[in-house]
Amino acid sequence: MAGLTSAIYAVRAGRSVLVLEREGIGGQIATSPKVENYPAAASISGAELSDRLFEQATSLGAELDFGDVTSVEKTETGFVAHTEDGDFEARSVIIASGVHHRKLGTPREEELFGRGVSYCAVCDGAFYKGKRVAVVGGGNTALSAAVFLAGICAEVTLIHRRDEFRAERYLVEQVKKLENVRIVTPATVEELLGEDKLSGLRLSNGEELALDGLFVCIGKVPDNAAFSALVDLTEDGFIDAGEDCHTRTEGVFVAGDCRKKEVRQLTTAAADVCVAALGACDYLNRFS
Ligand code: NAP
Repeated sequence: MAGLTSAIYAVRAGRSVLVLEREGIGGQIATSPKVENYPAAASISGAELSDRLFEQATSLGAELDFGDVTSVEKTETGFVAHTEDGDFEARSVIIASGVHHRKLGTPREEELFGRGVSYCAVCDGAFYKGKRVAVVGGGNTALSAAVFLAGICAEVTLIHRRDEFRAERYLVEQVKKLENVRIVTPATVEELLGEDKLSGLRLSNGEELALDGLFVCIGKVPDNAAFSALVDLTEDGFIDAGEDCHTRTEGVFVAGDCRKKEVRQLTTAAADVCVAALGACDYLNRFS
């Protein structure tokens, strides 16, 4: 979302822009079941929001390509982003690398990924139609996933390590009203059961659950190692930059969830990308 939105600003300021996406168009918001707190879009799916952004950015002239950036290097004329599929040159760079799913760290989690363990309800929920699933987490992502899955699955167990949820009250109330959602707190997942695929969980409260799917929604972590030659990283891996979105390298800006900040929302990402894109345009205006 941040990459495409910054493209809208930079293209409208007369610059040519290439957006490099690592996975799907729009980044993590594309996997959000429903967005109900973005101004003037009362209720919209993350996928539709991403499609609209893509249309808006590309119809204005932004280009989009796919590539996993492995490093960015400063050159005499600007910067070069290296990917496994080739190099991309630019005079200025906006890093909007977002964040990734945090793993539970439970034994066999990786082995059972795609065999009952998932990190995205919107992507994989349909595989569990009429089945029993659990969601782990207590934030907006977990509670939204529980609501979404309750509409598809026979039973949803929501497991959270504390009695209090950090998700918005509105979502918590919505989940509590759903007849096919059972809330188990405080509890953590101690063991993933099953041979070739997940068949259940053993929880810290001693309970054993028979399940077809587990959705792990316990937050996001950054992955900014590819940019470490040009930017400072915080201890937990976010890019250290203030509200002006400038990094320690002139011409390199950072926007969205990958930046060190207190509040990570679509609206705060949108604010960042506007600041970063206009900062990049100002920087380029010094040369032409
Ligand atoms: P989050 O708000 O960081 O919540 C992560 C949850 O996972 C917390 O409840 C945390 O427990 C729990 N957790 C963390 N590590 C754990 C572990 N190892 N084992 C068990 N539980 C663990 O993450 P999020 O829900 O993905 O949301 C990320 C950001 O996106 C937030 O700023 C959120 O507001 C935003 N978001 C917004 C919307 C929306 O506006 N509609 C939708 C989705 C996400 P504790 O509570 O005990 O720390």
